[in-house]
Formats: sequence, C-alpha cells, structure tokens
Amino acid sequence: MLPSASDVVVVGAGNAALCAAIAAAEHGASVLVLECAPEEESGGNSRFTAGAFRCVYDGVDDLKVLMPDLTEAEIANSDFGSYPEEKFFDDMGRVTEYRTHPDLCETLVRESRETMRWLATKGVRFAPIFGRQAFKVDGKFKFWGGLTVEAWGGGPGLIAGLTEAAKKKDVKIAYETRALSLVADDDGIAGVRVRAGGRSLEIAARNVVLAAGGFQANAEWRTRYLGPGWELAKVRGTRFNTGDGIAMAFAVGAMACGNWSGAHAVGWDRNAPEFGDLSVGDGFQKHSYPFGIMLNANGERFVDEGADFRNYTYAKYGRVILSQPGQFAWQIFDKKVLHLLRDEYRIKRVTKVRADTLEELVQKLEDVDGKRALATIAAYNKAVRKNARFDPNVKDGRSTARLAIPKSNWANTIDEPPFEAYAVTCGVTFTFGGLKIDRQARVIDSDGRPIAGLYAAGELVGGLFYFNYPGGTGLVSGAVFGKIAGDSAGQRAADAVMAKSAGRA
Ligand SMILES: Cc1cc2nc3c(=O)[nH]c(=O)nc-3n(C[C@H](O)[C@H](O)[C@H](O)COP(=O)(O)OP(=O)(O)OC[C@H]3O[C@@H](n4cnc5c(N)ncnc54)[C@H](O)[C@@H]3O)c2cc1C
Repeated sequence: MLPSASDVVVVGAGNAALCAAIAAAEHGASVLVLECAPEEESGGNSRFTAGAFRCVYDGVDDLKVLMPDLTEAEIANSDFGSYPEEKFFDDMGRVTEYRTHPDLCETLVRESRETMRWLATKGVRFAPIFGRQAFKVDGKFKFWGGLTVEAWGGGPGLIAGLTEAAKKKDVKIAYETRALSLVADDDGIAGVRVRAGGRSLEIAARNVVLAAGGFQANAEWRTRYLGPGWELAKVRGTRFNTGDGIAMAFAVGAMACGNWSGAHAVGWDRNAPEFGDLSVGDGFQKHSYPFGIMLNANGERFVDEGADFRNYTYAKYGRVILSQPGQFAWQIFDKKVLHLLRDEYRIKRVTKVRADTLEELVQKLEDVDGKRALATIAAYNKAVRKNARFDPNVKDGRSTARLAIPKSNWANTIDEPPFEAYAVTCGVTFTFGGLKIDRQARVIDSDGRPIAGLYAAGELVGGLFYFNYPGGTGLVSGAVFGKIAGDSAGQRAADAVMAKSAGRA
C-alpha cells in the first residue's frame, strides 16, 4: 500500500538512491523509495557491478578503517600504495580532457574518503580487489591504477547491504512502482505521479531525489543523442534506465548539462544479450586487451591497446569498437599472457576460439579477413621492441616501433601457442549527459536557479564525465552525491517541520 504523502521521495533503488534514502532518513524524515523494476530485478546498474569504488586513501591505515578484516599477512604481502586527492584530480582532469565541472569534481574527490567511511558505518563491507587490480610480481601483490577497494559481494552485496541499512531506518521501498512525472507549484516540487499495479496516483512530497539512472537503455534516445549506430550497441546493465528521471526534471524546467553525445562504453561479448543478465553480472566485459592486440573485420589493428592502464582506456574503447566495420573486434593473446587474463575470460558464455598455430587461429576468427589478419600479426610481431622488461603493474614502455597504430606499453610478440581469441562488440554502460546540479545536489533550472525541493544523484547527473571515465568512479559518484542529496532533502524536510511547529507555537 503506497502512502499518500512522504517528506522525501527518492526515485530509483540503485546505489545513489539508497544512499540518498539513508541520509534523508537520518534527519528524521519519512522516506519513500520508488523502484519501477520488480524486486528480483531491482538495484539498477549498481547491482550489475563488481562493486569497485575509486576513493582517496593515504595508505594502509586508511584502508584498515574501511576493511577492518584485512589480515597482517595480506598487509605484509601487498603494496597498496596510496591514492591522494591530487592523483584523483589528475585522473579526472586527464581522462575528461579537463572538461569535468570543477565544483562537482572537487566535491567528488574531497568527499570520497569520508563517504566511504560513512558507508562502512551503515554496514556496507569492503575488500581489496586482489583479483583484478593487483598483479603478483616478485611475491607481492602490487595495486595499480588508483582502484583498490570493492564492496563485499560485488554489486549484489552492495545493494543488499544498502537495502538492509535503509529498511533499518524505516525507509519504505515500493517495487514495480514507476515514477511518471513531477508535480510542481509556485513553491517548487509538490509531489510525484506514479503508476503501480496498473493504476496512476499522486504522492505528495515537497522533497524529491531523482536517482533513476541515465538513458542508455533507451535505443531511441541513444541514437538521438550519442549518434547513428548507437542503437546497435548492447546494454551492459539494467533495462530500466531509459532517461525517465531526466525527462521528468526537464518537464519542470531543469537545465541540461554535460557531455550529451558521450557515454561510458566498453568491449563486451559479441553474443551477449541485448541487456544485462544478473546471473552473469559484468562477466561479458573483456578488459585484458592491454596484454594482446585487437583486430577488426578487415584483419587490422585500429587502436593503441596499451595506451594506458585499462582503468583509463576501457570506458572509451567501446565507442571505437562500435565504429569498426560490423561493430565488432577480436582480441588476440598467446600463451605468454594467458595467465594474466581477468576472471571474465573464464565464464561459460564466452565467444572464444583457440588454436595451436596462427594460421589455424585466423581461420577461426568469424567474419574476419584471415589473410590480412595473419599479415597484421606478423607486422606487429616484427615491430615489438624488447627495450624494456614486460611488467603488467606499471606502464612499462615496452612498445612497438614504426607501426601506423603503435602499441605503447605491454607489447609482447604473439608467437607462443596456444593462441586464444575473444570476440567483442560495444557494450554501453551509462550515458554522460544529464541534469545540472550544484554542490548541494540541487537541480538547477534553465535560469540558473535551484528548483526548490528537487535533488539529483548518480548517472543522471551531467557534467562530471566527458569522453572517458576513470574506472570505479560511478559508484563513488552515486554515493557522494546520493548522500549529499539525501542530506539536503532530509534537512529541508526537517526545517519545514520546525518552521511549522514554530508557526503553531
Ligand atoms: C556491468 C556493469 C559493471 C559496472 N561496474 C562498475 C564498478 O565496478 N564500479 C563503478 O563505480 N561503476 C561500475 N559501473 C557503473 C555503475 O553501475 C553506475 O555508474 C552506478 O551504479 C549508477 O548508479 P545509479 O544509482 O545512478 O543508477 P542505478 O544503479 O542504475 O539505479 C537507477 C534505478 O532507477 C530505477 N528507475 C529508472 N526509471 C525509473 C522510474 N521511472 N521510476 C522508478 N524507478 C526508476 C531503475 O530501475 C534503477 O533501479 C558498472 C556498470 C555496469 C552496467
């Protein structure tokens, strides 16, 4: 049974939404979460993740606050390094070509450590990402690329933990309840129109947090804003993020912001389903390309696979794959690096071929000009310089010479059988364009003024990411701005109660 009114309504039940709901409830506000998905499909994109969070930390002592279960042996056998604020700023600036909005970026970076600590106090558990973000070299795990912490149990663990924390605070979650539109009057937001059980109704609320994700699952908006061909991309995560939150806010005057033609998109199994599958999670991604090469239908390389750590290239290479003939590519590896392939290469539903000779391998690459592929591999092998020692933990500078498309790091010859190849296409993760917000997560209207009572967090916020994205920033952005949005909405609700009782007295 839906309440007819709530102090705060939150649209969505992913990471950003649940953080907002918990924060708002901490101000004593009544909080209602609306989630259009059924409970078994709820949790949005957040549930599909491995739960990796990029956050500032100054060393192992900071990590111990988040992960009190870290053992002495783990600490002794690992080089966790540090990820100071300056490095996070550098990464955001570099990958977004310095377009990231300074206020939003500063809030994200400076609040990341405290927000992670806040999450830990709510019962969310964290663990080091030994499997994907650290390679063992000389007997010690060395973490690289600024990404060290993941939620225990990945995305499903994160959503379960946040849902439990929200329920403990008396937050009500209504599944299969779709927010349709916002109700607004001269005083700002007044409620939300929803559809549940085949009926439409209005819920009165003076404070609404929109956290309903981007528009990546909407093929028509994708084509309209990202460009022709994007209707052909596969959606990595939830089918429910179709831009509703953005459309609702526009209808009450919100301003568009950010990189509307940009999206986070990766190499994703060529035969993956059209939308994500929760039983596979992020397993369709194929992110070990820095240790091999990628060939298109013409049998040619088309990108510098080793331009940077995967954390700083994977989110933009999906677009590059989408622009290849037939929208696919094959990733090629030889025996020397097979042990480095991430766990996602060993799932059951994988488009993979294996051979003992390169001649045999290229014949097995479906839809590829095999003759040209063989020539490309031969030319690449000839160009590999042996000037530096191969080291997956650092940008080793082991590169190619005199190739039109260089490979700048981790260049090894492909000549030791067995050979393996994996077919990928473009998988879109989330869209970069969205709503304009300020440091308090208030939604800004097209006159540049906050819309009273309207807040936003997560994927549907525009202005943070342009062109590219540093791995693990989606969840931390949702948590930071979700908490701020919930605090702002909860505080406003509490202030209204105070004002009302002062008026009565
Ligand atoms: C496969 C995959 C792996 C990823 N891995 C990582 C990772 O390891 N680390 C990282 O930082 N990021 C990762 N990301 C990105 C990350 O998932 C997102 O950036 C982040 O989870 C977005 O959170 P959100 O709360 O904004 O949106 P979501 O978690 O998507 O939540 C939005 C919610 O809104 C609901 N909704 C939509 N419309 C309506 C409506 N009209 N009414 C009611 N409810 C509505 C949806 O059902 C959904 O539950 C990954 C994404 C995918 C797809």
